[in-house]
Amino acid sequence: MTQVFLAAQALRILGTLHDWLFGTSFRVLCYHAVSNAQRFSQHMAVLNRSAEVLGLGQLLAEKHKHHSLSTRPRVLITFDDGDPSVLDRAAPVLASHGMPSALFVVTDWIGSRTEPWWVTSSRAWQQNSNLEIHGQRFSSSQALIARLKTLPDTDRKTFVSEHVSASRPARNPEWSELSAAMKQGMEIGAHSVSHPCLDMCSAEQVQREVSGSIATVKKQLGFAQVAFALPNGNFNPDALQAAAEAQASSVFLFDHRTMPASQLNASMPLISRLRMDDYASIWRFVFIASGWHSRIYHLIRRDTQARALRNS
Ligand SMILES: [Zn+2]
Repeated sequence: MTQVFLAAQALRILGTLHDWLFGTSFRVLCYHAVSNAQRFSQHMAVLNRSAEVLGLGQLLAEKHKHHSLSTRPRVLITFDDGDPSVLDRAAPVLASHGMPSALFVVTDWIGSRTEPWWVTSSRAWQQNSNLEIHGQRFSSSQALIARLKTLPDTDRKTFVSEHVSASRPARNPEWSELSAAMKQGMEIGAHSVSHPCLDMCSAEQVQREVSGSIATVKKQLGFAQVAFALPNGNFNPDALQAAAEAQASSVFLFDHRTMPASQLNASMPLISRLRMDDYASIWRFVFIASGWHSRIYHLIRRDTQARALRNS
């Protein structure tokens, strides 16, 4: 408990200092599956003591408002992909604190036993580290996944279909379970139809993935407008256009940045997010949620890229 108390104070101080230096920001956290429920509970306990946790609708309602410097960081908690653990492990913790959140679902996976293609691919590499794509072998499962992200979408699908396991035990949440989660403050958005790498898809495919998933969420849950989260963090102009045509309320990025309040004012705001792991230690959580991890990460990246350009 003492640790949670100290971490909450640290988050308030570091967050305020960050916003004083860089401008008032929202912190939109992006989780995926929640395998470590205990760590996740600690993260939420820190937020409960330090932050103002907003829902998706509440965040968008902050448009065109004046935001003065606050000692309580304003946070939106989001989850991508719709893993069963979000409803099984994260939702009860959030409900116990009365915290809202947003879940972005892959519409073809709902109610199915489909597992994310990168999980299938990672297991395939662990079972056979000599597997090849076009004669290339990989030093790690991450290297394999990085290569798959650069393949034409049909080639990636072929690889995944050849390695899919028939016996996945976990079933993804049904629409009825998502409706029940909404009653506890979890808002639902779209995250494509099948989670491809949009930058490796044709324009028609991008259109189908974006507008198809938005239309399905609208129909199943009775929404007038839906937020869309870009899969794999691919920033893709065709996807933004498709989201605008489908009248998405907002598009969620995966850029590991805090979100300046002014960024909300666009007609379809692009929402920056901080990547958060459910197993991050309490101090790493504070470092990321305060915004300082993102500042240093992008500073180092910029420096590395500049050096690479100078040397090329
Ligand atoms: Zn995703």
